[in-house]
Order: sequence, then structure tokens, then C-alpha cells
Amino acid sequence: MGDFNLTVILDAIRRTAGGLSRVELAQIVGLSPQTISNISRRLLDQNLIVEAGKEGSGPGKPRTILRLNPGGMYALGVHLDPAVTTFVVLDLVGSVVRHSRIKTPGGNDPSAVITTIAAEIDQLVADSGVDRSRIAGLGVAAPGPIDLDNGTVVDPPLLPGWDRVELREALAAATGYSVLVDKDVTSAAVAETWAGGPSGAGSFIFMYMGTGIGCGIVLNDEVVRGTSGNAGEIGHIIVDPDGPPCDCGLRGCVKSSCIPQVLVAEAEAAGILDGSRAGNSAAEVQQSFSRLCALADGGDERAAAILDNSAVLVARAVSVVTNTLDVERVVFGGPFWSGLAERYLERIPPLLDANSDVRLIHPVEVVGTGVGEDVGAIGAASLVLEHTLAPRAQRLLLES
Ligand SMILES: [Zn+2]
Repeated sequence: MGDFNLTVILDAIRRTAGGLSRVELAQIVGLSPQTISNISRRLLDQNLIVEAGKEGSGPGKPRTILRLNPGGMYALGVHLDPAVTTFVVLDLVGSVVRHSRIKTPGGNDPSAVITTIAAEIDQLVADSGVDRSRIAGLGVAAPGPIDLDNGTVVDPPLLPGWDRVELREALAAATGYSVLVDKDVTSAAVAETWAGGPSGAGSFIFMYMGTGIGCGIVLNDEVVRGTSGNAGEIGHIIVDPDGPPCDCGLRGCVKSSCIPQVLVAEAEAAGILDGSRAGNSAAEVQQSFSRLCALADGGDERAAAILDNSAVLVARAVSVVTNTLDVERVVFGGPFWSGLAERYLERIPPLLDANSDVRLIHPVEVVGTGVGEDVGAIGAASLVLEHTLAPRAQRLLLES
């Protein structure tokens, strides 16, 4: 009875909202009733699951339903974003127990930022009242590119001074928790699988609307990270052949034509937004972008035209990815999503459908994240749950 079977059973229970009886579990995972019974006992002893009443009214004995115990385990998540750093404590069913946000300290001293993050984590855990011994670890979502093997952040845009910072080791030393680091877009996809409900199942891409635009990829319920953990970099997909020049030497890439910073600059050049911003920091771009969205929603046609055009461009990039991967769903989210949601959810589905090579076979659904604004931090904490609890082919190979 290896740990693989244990995680398979936990995984089956967590994927069924109402819980499962032992008999149903045996049918779903294909293990013997005796094995199911033994593992259930272990999980009950570890407080990871609870017996949640009996079900069944027909002939025969009513069945005891097994459910995850929300308080059986907790995970911490941090989303390091150039503008705002978000913190969450997540319980075993993926619910947020406590969250907080701080303005990401500026300057170019990563060690000062790490000290601030560690202090905030201590405060958050104290405020949550969660027993430290029940915390499985700390997940960190960081802007890419990252070095997944070494838990290193490698020179991300808008975080000056973050040139090969060993974030995983530094935070482990500062907090005493075991630490996992993943790219923010991938963390967002992980969050969707753990806490997003029906939109987090099957095969989908998570379109992360942040300082840049990237996507997290989930195929058949498995998160795809690529060789080095940097899958999903779609910034150089060309969406407008006559568009603005990109740092790659070509024109009209996603990152040169429809990221927030570019849209804000466009609105400033056209006199729609006041161009007297104090600086070009992530926080200042975010403020200006919110103003642009508010103007468009308030009926400013020129502001609306900029955002509507960005929806067309983003849809082109998304269709390249959805056609390549044959996914069933596109989930949008990230710090810049809320201002775009209504507009994008109206405009992007027909554009995507028109470009879909599989539209006669299946639709490609477009939805906003079921997880909300803290998706990066929730994803980071979900990484810990996933690492601790989810069955993986890799684990099976190691243990067989
Ligand atoms: Zn480019």
C-alpha cells in the first residue's frame, strides 16, 4: 500500500463536491475494498478526511460519505508581483482562511523585499490562528522567467535588481517553511484546478492578464510546465503584422501591442489619459489602466476603441494556443482582468470561434476565473497542496 494509492484516493474525494462512499471510491479508482478501507482509516487518523453522514435510502445498508477535512492541512501562498504582493492561508479544500496585501517594496534590493515578505507571513499565520504544525509549506508565485530546479527568479521585467535571486532558499531560511516556487501564470492555472470549480477541470489554458500576458496550461487535469518550468510564454506571438516594433526585432507581438503598459501609452498619446504620470512603475501603470477601463465603461468611445481592439488582438493570440493544444476552455484572470472582464467576455468568444479549427467538433468555452483576484497567491498555496497530495505519474514511477 504505497503513498500513490493514498493520493489517488484523496484526489478522487477532493474532485467530488459531495464526497464519496467507500464503495463509490472502489469503483472510481479501481482498488480493492480492503485497500480502500485501510487507506480511509489512515486518512481519518491523519485528520485529512472526515466521515460526513450517511447516504442511501433504498434497500441495503446506508453508506458513510467521506469528505476532505478542511482543517486537516493548510498551505501558505505568496504572489510576488511588481506592484502588489498578496498573501493567503489556504485550507485543504482550497478555501481562503486569511489573506493580506502589501505594496511590493520598491528599490532594487531583493533581500529587503524577502525580509518584508517573511515578516508579513509570520503576521498572517498569527492572525489566522492556524496551528503552525498543520501548515504543509509555502508556495511562491513569481514572474517569469524562473529557474524551476533552483527556485530562482531570473531577471523578470519591472523588478529591478532581481537578477538570479535564489528566492526559494532565501524564503525557506527566513520563514522555516519548506518552499516551492513556480511561475505566476502556472500558479494561476494550478489555482483554477484546485479552487476554480468546474472551470478548473479537463483541458484549458489560463490567460493571465498581468503586467505582461502569459498563459498557464492544463491538459487532461495535469499542469504542463515544459522543460524548465517556463511554458506559456506567448508574448512573441504576432497579432498585428503592422503593429508597434517589439524588442525581438519583429512588429506587432502580443507584448508590444496589447499589454496594459502599451494600451495606457496609446491612450496617453491620444490625449484620452493625462500623460503626466510620475513614473512607469507597475503600480502607476495599474492605476492608469484602471482609469482607462473606467472611461471606456463610462461611454468614452475612444477609450472603448482601444480596449475593443486589444480584445481582437488577444483573441488572435489565444486562438493560436487553443488550436495548438485543442483545449476545451479558456479561463481569463490576473490583476488586470476585472476591468476587462465584461468587454472581453462579450467580444472574444465569437472571434475565437471564427478562428477555431475544431468548431465543428467541440466548442471552446471562454470564462473568467472562478478563483478571483487573489488567484496568483491561491495558486501558490495550491502548489503546496498539489505537491503534497496530488497523484502524479512521476511519483508512481519513483515508487514502483
Ligand atoms: Zn516580439
